[in-house]
Amino acid sequence: MTQHTDVVVVGGGQAGLAVGYHLRRLGIEHLILDAQTAAGGAWQHTWDSLRLFSPAAYSSLPGRLMPGQEGHLYPDAGHVVAYLADYEKRYELPIQHGVWVDAVHDEGTLLRVETDSGTWRARAVVSATGTWTRPFVPAVEGRQEFTGRQLHTVHYKNPAEFAGQRVVVVGGGNSGAQIAADLTGQAAVTWVTQRPPRYLADDIDGRALFDAATARRKTLDEGRTDTGGVASLGDIVAVPPVRAARDAGLLAARPMFARLTARGAEWADGIRQDADAVIWTTGFRPALAHLAGLRLRGTRGHIATTGTRASEDPRLHFLGYGDWTGPASATLIGVGRTAREAAREIRTLLS
Ligand code: FAD
Repeated sequence: MTQHTDVVVVGGGQAGLAVGYHLRRLGIEHLILDAQTAAGGAWQHTWDSLRLFSPAAYSSLPGRLMPGQEGHLYPDAGHVVAYLADYEKRYELPIQHGVWVDAVHDEGTLLRVETDSGTWRARAVVSATGTWTRPFVPAVEGRQEFTGRQLHTVHYKNPAEFAGQRVVVVGGGNSGAQIAADLTGQAAVTWVTQRPPRYLADDIDGRALFDAATARRKTLDEGRTDTGGVASLGDIVAVPPVRAARDAGLLAARPMFARLTARGAEWADGIRQDADAVIWTTGFRPALAHLAGLRLRGTRGHIATTGTRASEDPRLHFLGYGDWTGPASATLIGVGRTAREAAREIRTLLS
């Protein structure tokens, strides 16, 4: 049976909820379809000790300040999940969990959204599927030869399963720093980064990342030269566990190795490090497979956008994913602004 609604939002993580909030405020009929059986998007699946890089009040979606977490300036993922679950309920967002969207097709004036639980026809679609389902591991020589365990950020839970092991952590971002720090008490960690780790100054945190993204937004809006936004500040927020490990001298990073061998990592100068496990904290790609049938142009895994709108199809918007859908669109505090813009454009389209 085919059902109709004005807007289908694919994905019910923070980006999907933020646009739901704005669509609701504008009185636009919509439906949010989310593959997860419970609220919280990707936050439900992160490692146990993950800390946000922004204080709670700076990690809020539109309309509702994230409450503080007792005893923690930087909340954990469980706190975010509880906040998102409350957000869904508070604003009575029309969300269906446990629904996987297979494909979106062009049907002339309408878009047909095919799912594992039925088909919807809509006048506009917002894609907010995140990146968590598409972990990225670089092509490194010898990856298939390594006989130890290889896993990505998405598979890491806690250090207990690596107790007493030699672990190589690859990646110089927040995930790499936090996971390397998490392991230091229990495993022998070799942290490998493509360039020397760049910490934000200790007295600034994710708030500064957001300010930088806002400044970048202003720069772009005014047609001035791009400042590079958050990238100009550094990559790693020294949340307390990272700072403690770094200050204890346990987070000395080594440059990227040249190859993996059966036993571990090998650098160009012949130095070797045997390992039981390699953890790739090497990022993600946007989850866009459901849009393949629309055959939209794009580069490097992105689809060409004007603001949040697909340049080739005004019925389709993107939220989250990364800076190509708006500065800081892939953060809790940043997505609200791009969600508001998308909802307004959709209102114009529908009217
Ligand atoms: P997601 O949370 O991934 O939600 C997407 C939803 O869409 C999921 O529920 C998914 O199941 C669903 N979905 C996917 N495909 C389909 C489909 N085909 N059909 C139906 N549903 C589908 N941001 C901050 O602001 N502060 C931080 O401290 C911070 N720390 C981070 C730490 C890590 C390790 C990572 C990876 C990211 C962090 N981020 C942080 C960035 C960002 O806030 C998160 O990645 C956030 O989860 C992105 O939200 P989202 O809604 O875009 O995607």
